[in-house]
Amino acid sequence: MATQRPGPRLETLAITAGRPHQLGEPINTPITLASNYASGAGPEYARGDSTPTWQSLEEAVGLMEGGVGVAFSSGMAAVAAVLSQLAPGARLLLPDDCYQGVAILAADGEARLGWKIERLATTDTQAWLDALPGADLVWLESPSNPMLEIGDLPTICAAARSLGVTSAVDNTFATPLLQQPIGFGATYSIQSATKFIGGHSDLLCGIVTACDADAAAPIDRHRTYHGATPGALESYLALRGLRTMPVRVERAQESAMVLAQRLSEHRQVTKVHYPGLASDPGHELARTTLAGPGAMISFQMRGSETSTDVRLTRLRLITPATSLGGVESLIERRAKLVGQEHIPPTLCRLSVGCEHVEDLWEDLDQALSGQMPEA
Ligand code: PLP
Repeated sequence: MATQRPGPRLETLAITAGRPHQLGEPINTPITLASNYASGAGPEYARGDSTPTWQSLEEAVGLMEGGVGVAFSSGMAAVAAVLSQLAPGARLLLPDDCYQGVAILAADGEARLGWKIERLATTDTQAWLDALPGADLVWLESPSNPMLEIGDLPTICAAARSLGVTSAVDNTFATPLLQQPIGFGATYSIQSATKFIGGHSDLLCGIVTACDADAAAPIDRHRTYHGATPGALESYLALRGLRTMPVRVERAQESAMVLAQRLSEHRQVTKVHYPGLASDPGHELARTTLAGPGAMISFQMRGSETSTDVRLTRLRLITPATSLGGVESLIERRAKLVGQEHIPPTLCRLSVGCEHVEDLWEDLDQALSGQMPEA
C-alpha cells in the first residue's frame, strides 16, 4: 500500500518506531504522568522538556513522515502553531476547500493581524505557481476536506521550496502511510492524530512534522509558551492507534473503493467524489501523489437538504456524526456547518471504518432507497 523507500517499510515503522530499546524495558513506552523532574540531570519541566510518552509518539510519526515530529494537544493546536508563525500583514495562500477550522483561524488572522489571504482552487496548479512569489505561507490540503480534491503537491511544494516560501500540508486524510509531503519539499506536514492515527474516536491529539530541526524549533517553542502540550494518556493512545493504522487504513480503503463504485451507480446519488474512481477528476494525479485513495468518500444525494437529513437518520449501522478516521463508519452532511457555502447542499462525507463492507453497503442502500414521505 505504501510507497517504497530505504529502510523498513512504513507498515513496519508504524509498529516498530518509538519503542524503548533497552533490554528489560517494557515493550511499549509507559504513560508518564509528570509535570516536572528532579532537578539537575536534564529535563526540568514537562511543558518545555516533554515526557517520554509523547517523545515516542513524535519519534514514530516523525520517522513515518520523514522529518521531526512535534506533538500537540489537538490537530487545531498543531495547525495554530504553524499559522502563528505568520507576522502581521503576511501573505497566506489557502485552498478554496480545506478544513473549516483552518479557514476560521486564518480569517481571525486577517481581522486581527491584517494577513492577506488568497483562496485558490486546489486543482489549479498554475494559479498556485503564479501566486507563490512573495507569499509567506502556502497552506495545502490534499485530498481536501470534504470535496476530496487532489492538488499537485509535489509541484507546488517543490516550487515553494525553490523560492524559499514556507509550505504546510494538512496530511490528515492521507496519513503518512499514503502520502509524505516532506518528501515533496513541504516545510511542514500536519496530522490531526485524533483521526486515522488514533483510529478509535477516543482522543484529541495533533502532530506537526517539520522538514528539519531548524523548522521544528519555532513550532516547539510555540507549544512550550502557548502550553499546547499533548496529554500523557492521549499520546499513549495515539501511539497505540498508530500501531494498527496500516491494517485499519488498508481495510477501510478497500471497502471505500467498493462503496464508492456502488454509490456511483445508485439512483439516489448524483455524484461521488473519490479519487479512487477512474471517473474522478483527481484520479490520475492521485495515482502519482498518493499510495492509495484513502478511506474518505463524499457523495451528493438526489433531493434536498431535508430529504438527505431524513435519509441519514435511517442509517442503522453508520453513525451520523462529525469527525473521521475511526474503526466505526461515520457520515455527515457537511454543508450544515457554518462557513461551508462552497459545499453542495446534499453532500455527505463518509468516513469508512472497518466493519464488513457488505453490512456497510446494506445499511447505505436501505437508507438511500427507502420511500420518502413527500414522494
Ligand atoms: N485537519 C483536518 C483535515 C481535520 O479534519 C481536522 C478535524 O476534523 C483538523 C485538522 C483538526 O483536528 P482536531 O479536531 O484534532 O483539532
